[in-house]
Formats: sequence, structure tokens, C-alpha cells
Amino acid sequence: MNCLKRLYSLDTDVAEEAPVLVLNQNYEPLNVCNIRRAIVMIFNGKAEVVELNGHKVNTSTSSYHCPSVIRLAHLVRRPRPRVRLSRREVFIRDKYTCQYCGKKTKDLTLDHVVPKSRGGRHTWDNLVSACRSCNHRKGGKSPDEARMRLLNKPSEPKVSPYYIFVQKLQHSPTDGWEKFLPVSVSHS
Ligand SMILES: [Zn+2]
Repeated sequence: MNCLKRLYSLDTDVAEEAPVLVLNQNYEPLNVCNIRRAIVMIFNGKAEVVELNGHKVNTSTSSYHCPSVIRLAHLVRRPRPRVRLSRREVFIRDKYTCQYCGKKTKDLTLDHVVPKSRGGRHTWDNLVSACRSCNHRKGGKSPDEARMRLLNKPSEPKVSPYYIFVQKLQHSPTDGWEKFLPVSVSHS
């Protein structure tokens, strides 16, 4: 392995920077790694090549076809992907719609349904998008006290197993990846 690392440290091929899609043993997309890591996993018998990206990495003794998709030899259990709680993600969940008056706008505020001053928590089920005027009207009151009704009961958004790849694919080449990802994701 040290020998392999030394060989690869000599290589200057830009293809080495290309991302490699890592599939679980059941072909579900699991992660993204670099070519160096992918080749080490293949040499270790931890993964097999599924797709090549058409480039070669040349070392002092031989040359290797660069993988663009690899598959793990063993099934890895993984937790359900979750959306990180942020203002932006709350707005996306609420489709940029004020959850009190239904106005669609980009000029939104984050409203704590149960106000923080009453012990309301900073959680998916206590945060909603509110337009400025609704937020002002609600102030530090609960929806009941302010006589304002929520359009939807807030909760943590469910995500597909492909969620983590959306952002990575936006600035990565995807040689051979599209077979393993939904079309809408691979072209987003
Ligand atoms: Zn509103």
C-alpha cells in the first residue's frame, strides 16, 4: 500500500481530481470519493470498478484506467440522510410561502411558532416561513393568541437517498453516474 501511495504521489494527471461515485453493494449511491481513494479501495479488495471515466493514471511502472463509479464489496448500513436545519431549508420546505397568509415571496423571515421567550425550540416542527407583515403581526405571541392559523403543520422534510448528491453533481463531471441516479438529479 505504501508502494501504491508512492506511485500515485508521482502522478500529475488532472483526471485524478475527478470525483468517483461510490455505490453500496446493492448499487445504491452511497458517497463520492477521489480517484486515489477509489483505487486504494479496489487494490484492497473493498470495491470493484463499475464504470471508467476514459482517462488513465500513469505511474512509474504501469498505467491504470480511472474509475468513475465503484461498488463496495460489502453492504454498508447507513442512516437515513437528513436535511440540515437552516433558514434556507425551512424556506425551501415551505416552498417560499408564508405559512400564515399564503403569500409566495423571497422576502421571508423565520418564525418560531411557539416563541423562543415561551420555551419554543429551534426545531423543524417549531419553525415556519413567515412574510414580514405576518411575523410583525404575530410578534411574541402563539398562533392562537395572535389568531393566526398555520397553513401546514411544520415537520422535518423527508429526503430521498439521493439528496446528498444533488449539490455534488452541480459542479462535478458525471461519467457513467446517471445510470445510478435519478435523471432529475443528474441533470440538475
Ligand atoms: Zn404572511
